[in-house]
Amino acid sequence: MQPHNVPPPSPPSETDVVVIGGGVNGTGVARDCALRGLRVALLERNDLAFGASGNSSGMIHGGPRYLTDNPSVTRLSCVDSGFIQRIAPHLLFRIPFIMPIAAGLGSRVYLTLVDAFFGAYDRFQPLKRGKPHTCLTPAETLQIEPGIRMALAGSITFDEWGIDGSRLCTANAVDAVEHGASVLVHTTADRILREGPQGAVTGVRFRDRLTGRSGSIRASIVVNATGAWGPITASLAGLPPRSAAVRPGKGIHVVFDRRLSNHAVSVTTIDNRLVFVEPWQNVSVLGTTDTDFYGDLDCVHATADEVRYLVQAVARVMPSIRTARIIGTFAGVRPTLHAWGPIPDALSRENEIVDHAGHGAPGLFSMLGGKLASYRAFAEQMTDRIAPVLGCSATCTTHQRPLPGGEETIEPAAFARAHGIDPVAARRLIYRHGSRAARIAELWNADASRSAIVCTCEAISDAEIRFVLRHEFARTVDDVARRTRMGMGPCGGMRCALRCGAIVADELGLDPREGLRQAASFLSRMARSRLPGLGPVQARQEALAIALLRSQAGIHPGGRS
Ligand SMILES: Cc1cc2nc3c(=O)[nH]c(=O)nc-3n(C[C@H](O)[C@H](O)[C@H](O)COP(=O)(O)OP(=O)(O)OC[C@H]3O[C@@H](n4cnc5c(N)ncnc54)[C@H](O)[C@@H]3O)c2cc1C
Repeated sequence: MQPHNVPPPSPPSETDVVVIGGGVNGTGVARDCALRGLRVALLERNDLAFGASGNSSGMIHGGPRYLTDNPSVTRLSCVDSGFIQRIAPHLLFRIPFIMPIAAGLGSRVYLTLVDAFFGAYDRFQPLKRGKPHTCLTPAETLQIEPGIRMALAGSITFDEWGIDGSRLCTANAVDAVEHGASVLVHTTADRILREGPQGAVTGVRFRDRLTGRSGSIRASIVVNATGAWGPITASLAGLPPRSAAVRPGKGIHVVFDRRLSNHAVSVTTIDNRLVFVEPWQNVSVLGTTDTDFYGDLDCVHATADEVRYLVQAVARVMPSIRTARIIGTFAGVRPTLHAWGPIPDALSRENEIVDHAGHGAPGLFSMLGGKLASYRAFAEQMTDRIAPVLGCSATCTTHQRPLPGGEETIEPAAFARAHGIDPVAARRLIYRHGSRAARIAELWNADASRSAIVCTCEAISDAEIRFVLRHEFARTVDDVARRTRMGMGPCGGMRCALRCGAIVADELGLDPREGLRQAASFLSRMARSRLPGLGPVQARQEALAIALLRSQAGIHPGGRS
């Protein structure tokens, strides 16, 4: 149990809507409900963006690969991507893609076909401010992407957008709270309450997994937005898991310590799947796999064979990837709509709302499937279904109202000068917080100790860590890392986790040993994420380094200090 001197916020005893799940769909619905004037409480079992939303490839894209089988998915994603750019411009960054086409028998024809395919995709690009594709010669390809080493017929470029999924969820949750919602993280729904002859939903029982506090919230509408956990959540209402069936699809990513290419380079795997290595902030991310998952959803890890499968694919095109340094992996589980038969890659990425009145549980709804890129539209569809039931006629405004930080565009150099902040740190702060960076700058300048850079890889200050603890629901070192990327760079937290633990303890009024314990647990998690990418010698060195750090901090195996 976490001995909190500063208790987490109290949940309301009654509300209109309880949303279960703090991924992008749950936080999106909570925001939409709050903006329409509904009373809403959101329960998240782990942390915001703990699931697929914080472990996706982070593409706010149209998904050209859905164009042939599910063009409606491409269209919806492109339309919503345009809205997301408008409401959170600071969070999006352009990711130009390049798809090299190998020389060989029939390659000219193949290049012409791919060119024509992307010609069709170009029609969707204006919806998301994307540039039209180009078809490059081998010489042009090597000029802009010199790391490519293969005999080329040419290449295709196309345009997509990236986003940090954790920041997107946090921004939605913050806006929901600023419009009256309650957001409770580390709080699991452990029963969905039903009463009366109809078995109507009357609320949710919850338990805070850090403090042990439990209770119930009365509500006539409960939204199951728990993604891949959806079937388990349906069973909390006594329904069969198949009433909210998904086909969980695991995907992993490998993180390298620097930018390995100028573009996201799209390549095929041994089984002819498309994967890519993309520059992501100052690291590179390689993803992703798609395999059926039957394990514990609270504990999803990449494995060494998954890492090798991905590296092998890129190495055929960019052999230098074999000598690049892997600094971590991450993994998530897609809540794909259930179908028996197709391979995971071929499953539909459409979304579906299940009204469990049809299963004898009026008031309970499940959100299944969908994509990060179209979360806002999915949340709008969900809120449109429940608002009239609650007598609310307000319409959706989430496509017009900026998310927190998206209110105005901040010029980084001017901001750095005005607040006396290092320009690199200022740019990072603005990317993560948009116009709200000014609030952190105030904290930074209020006290000299607040300007200390805690994580040098990601330029994260003492002030930013305190800000996310005070205003963004963070309650642990892991939570801080998800919101700021602390410890996610090349140092893997070795330089910053202990300092962050001390700040968490100070801000939340915890015993300093609890801050140390959390830092150690974070370091172990980061080490665990690196292991699949390391050889045996490096793995032993890694174990030694962590043991040394633990002993320096006085933390014994098992977390006691
Ligand atoms: C590897 C991978 C790559 C992807 N890439 C992309 C991409 O590039 N672009 C794109 O558009 N989409 C992408 N997706 C899909 C996208 O990430 C998901 O569709 C989306 O994030 C699902 O959001 P969600 O809110 O439904 O689920 P989640 O984000 O998984 O959230 C569910 C939440 O429910 C919580 N929860 C579970 N049980 C309970 C309970 N009892 N009480 C309280 N809380 C509970 C969990 O802790 C979790 O945080 C990708 C997904 C994966 C896995």
